[in-house]
Amino acid sequence: MALLNIHVYPDPILKQPAEKVTEFGEDLGKLLDNMYQTMISAAGIGLAAPQVGISRRIAVIDVSEERDQRLEIINPVITEVAGKIPSEEGCLSIPGYRDTIKRSEIVTITAQDRSGEQFEIKADGLLAICLQHEIDHLDGILFTDHLSRLKRELFKRWHRKQSAASER
Ligand code: ZN
Repeated sequence: MALLNIHVYPDPILKQPAEKVTEFGEDLGKLLDNMYQTMISAAGIGLAAPQVGISRRIAVIDVSEERDQRLEIINPVITEVAGKIPSEEGCLSIPGYRDTIKRSEIVTITAQDRSGEQFEIKADGLLAICLQHEIDHLDGILFTDHLSRLKRELFKRWHRKQSAASER
C-alpha cells in the first residue's frame, strides 16, 4: 500500500468534472486501497479520486469513529434528496478552513462497488453530508462553492493570506 499525494486548492484538477469508470480490475482495487489508506492517515472521513490527481468518478468514505466502516463508491449518482440542514465542513484539499453551508438532510444514491456491482444507499446524518461532499468533488465542486457570495470573498481573502504566509 502507498500513500497518495493530496492535491490542494487551487489545483485545477479539483475544478474538473471526473470521468466515469468503465474498468473494474485489479488497478481499481489498488487505487481504492491506497485512497483509503491516504484518507485514514490524513484523518479524513472522505476522499475523492480528483483529490489525489485522478479525474475518475471514485470516492472512499468512512464516517465511523472506529474507522471500520469503509465505503467505496464508484460512478455514484444521487437519485433522491429530502430536507435541508446546515453543515459545518472542511476538506482535505483546503486544509485549515471550515465553514457552514446548506446540504440535503437525507440522500439516496446508487453506485457501483469495486467489482462493478450496482448498489443503493439511503443515508442521513454525517454519512449523507459526506456522500454529497464527495460526489460534488467528482463534478469539480468544492464545498466553498456553496458559500454565499460574501462568505466566498472571505474565503478567498483567507486563502490569499495563507499563500502569502507560506511564501514567507
Ligand atoms: Zn473535500
